[in-house]
Order: sequence, then structure tokens, then C-alpha cells
Amino acid sequence: MNATQPLKKPVVQLRGLCKSFDGKQIISDFKLDVNHGEFLTILGPSGCGKTTVLRLIAGLEDADEGTILLDDHDVTRIPAENRHVNTVFQSYALFPHMTVFDNVAFGLRMQNVAENEIEPRVMEALRMVQLDQFAPRKPHQLSGGQQQRVAIARAVVNKPKVLLLDESLSALDYKLRKKMQMELKQLQRKLGITFIFVTHDQEEALSMSDRIIVMRSGDIVQDGSPREIYEEPKNLFVARFIGEINVFDATVIQRLDEKRIMATVEGRQCQVFCDLDVSEGDAIKVLLRPEDLRLEELHNGDAASGIVGYVRERNYKGMTLDSVVELESGKSVMVSEFFNEDDPDVDHSLNQKVAVTWVESWEVVLPDE
Ligand code: ATP
Repeated sequence: MNATQPLKKPVVQLRGLCKSFDGKQIISDFKLDVNHGEFLTILGPSGCGKTTVLRLIAGLEDADEGTILLDDHDVTRIPAENRHVNTVFQSYALFPHMTVFDNVAFGLRMQNVAENEIEPRVMEALRMVQLDQFAPRKPHQLSGGQQQRVAIARAVVNKPKVLLLDESLSALDYKLRKKMQMELKQLQRKLGITFIFVTHDQEEALSMSDRIIVMRSGDIVQDGSPREIYEEPKNLFVARFIGEINVFDATVIQRLDEKRIMATVEGRQCQVFCDLDVSEGDAIKVLLRPEDLRLEELHNGDAASGIVGYVRERNYKGMTLDSVVELESGKSVMVSEFFNEDDPDVDHSLNQKVAVTWVESWEVVLPDE
């Protein structure tokens, strides 16, 4: 099997799942297909139901209604241990008194796999996570990242069809977490196993996933590639949840052609790319990421294009210079420009009057909510 590309064949199918706790509906009529070899991330704020979806797939919770199919077999009433699905939890849940080897071997022993078969399989799994040297150690003799890798080795040793990861990297410090993100993605490609990863960290979701579903209050609000989710958010919730974004209030003046309208954005007339069904006078939102905005110096005191404002904060970030600009309306916008010492345009002084501009068509236009 070519493990690098997910197959467009669902391995997990959730059909109309409902789950309540203490009379409170957490998810209802939840539908999702996850493809073979796919790295799918479930992203959403705390309490939106991500873990509940994962636990239903794992068989750690029973669905009130609906069906769970695994490779076209109905597993809705099949106990967790018979589902070919493993879970890696945030806490890793390693057995402290057992060696790394025995931790990884545990599941195989429980399945009564012959002892002479266990040794090569455990060592293969440990090699995969580069921990074969550590087989005789106990968990407390390992770093957090190494413990996390043992948990992954233990979860892949019996070759599950699906690996569920619940906030599995969140206990690691920033640097280690970045490293583990890359390693996990590489491992997933190598193994060709479907990974379903739960996180509330949007940066992590963008960098690791083939596909992201964004959840809010038990519902899927957007389902797409990381790029689609970042560049074409379907609504303000997704736009604001994934990274920084500037939201401008605007009013439609007139439609110019199929794709473009003339609108008043922060008091200035601009052409805006918009394929929404809008008419004159409608309120809309124009969304722009900080890295899509530029600051231009005002030579004759006023801007030919763009929105006038004053630089109120400048933060040097190494690669970029981030500015907070206060517009004449009082609204603040974030601008992130690539820093180049030879480019004076990017070195604005505090309180300087500037024009905030952007490349037409980079904006996202949404209806007012
Ligand atoms: P987080 O990112 O904080 O882990 P989440 O999106 O994973 O959040 P869930 O853990 O799925 O959210 O929880 C969704 C809702 O269901 C929450 O309001 C939670 O309190 C509730 N809940 C989850 N499990 C149970 C349970 N066993 N008993 C009662 N309520 C529960």
C-alpha cells in the first residue's frame, strides 16, 4: 500500500451519532467519514465534544443512537478491545513498574500472542520510535518526549486500523512538542495507519493534518484541508479560532461584476472580492490575516488607497515585524510584515501615520452575523 497518500475509502464511518451526559445532549446526529491512511484532526474549543467523539469511536463510551462502522463492519455494540482501534491519551498511561519493553508487549501478551513472536514485534515498534536502546528502562528513567513515544509504540504494536490521539502532545514543552509533531506525522506516513488526533491547538492542527474538522458545541462547522480552513474559513467562528484575523465592518455600495463589489470598509471605498449574494446597503465582514496586510508611508499626508491609521505598537519577531495600527475609527488592526532591514517601508516608527493596504482578492468576505 502506498502509505503517503490517504485512500479515498472510509475506514471509520460515523452515522447519526447521539450522546448525552446527565440529560445534556453533547453531540446529536453526528456524521463523519475518515479515510484509510488519513491524518484527521478534530479541532475545537474546550467542551465542544472532541473527546466524546474519540471515546465513541474507541468504544469507551456507548452511543445513545447511531452507528459506527469500521471497515464497513458495524462495531457500535462491539467492546473496545475488539475494535482494532487504539488510543494514546494525554497522560500516556504507561505502567510505571514495567520496563519499556514490557509496556509495549503488554497488549500482545493480553491477546495471548506467542512469546517468540512478541520480541521481534516489540523491538520493531521501538525501533520505529527510535527507542530500541531504551527497552530495559522504566518510564521514570525517560524524558517526557520519550515516554510519549513509548505510548505510541505500545499503541501501534498490534497494528490497529485506527489510532486515536487525545491531546497527546499537550504535556510536552514547546520545543519538544514541535519535534514530536514532525515525528508523529512521519510515523503516520510510514505506517499508513489512520490517525484521528484531537487538539484545541490550531497551529498543531494546521501543521500535522491532511484534513481538519472544526467543531463547535457538538457540531462540525467546517471540514477541509488545513489550507482551506485557514484561507477560506466558512464563518467568523472558524476564522477567529484559527490564528489571528482582522475583521472589518463593511457596507456594500454596488456590484461591479460576478466576483467584485465596491464597498465602504472602515469609511473608505474599496473594491472587494465577493461572490456572496449581496445587494446595496448590506452589511458584510471583510476579513484579512495580519500577514496579508501591508503598511504604506503617507507622503502627501493622505492615502490614495487603504485605510489610514497610526502605528501604536511595534514588535520585532525575528522573521517579521508585527505592528498594531489604530485606525481613525478607533479600531486596532494587527499587521505582520516580513522584516528586511534594507526595506525602509517595513520599519515604521511609533505613532507614524500610515495606510493599511492589502492585495485585492486576499480578503475573505462573510455575511454579517
Ligand atoms: P476538552 O478540549 O476540554 O477536552 P472536549 O471538546 O474534548 O473538551 P468533551 O470532553 O467531549 O469535550 O466534553 C464535552 C462535554 O461533555 C463537556 O461539557 C463535558 O463536561 C461533558 N462530559 C464529557 N464526559 C462526561 C461524562 N463522562 N459525564 C458527564 N459529562 C461529561
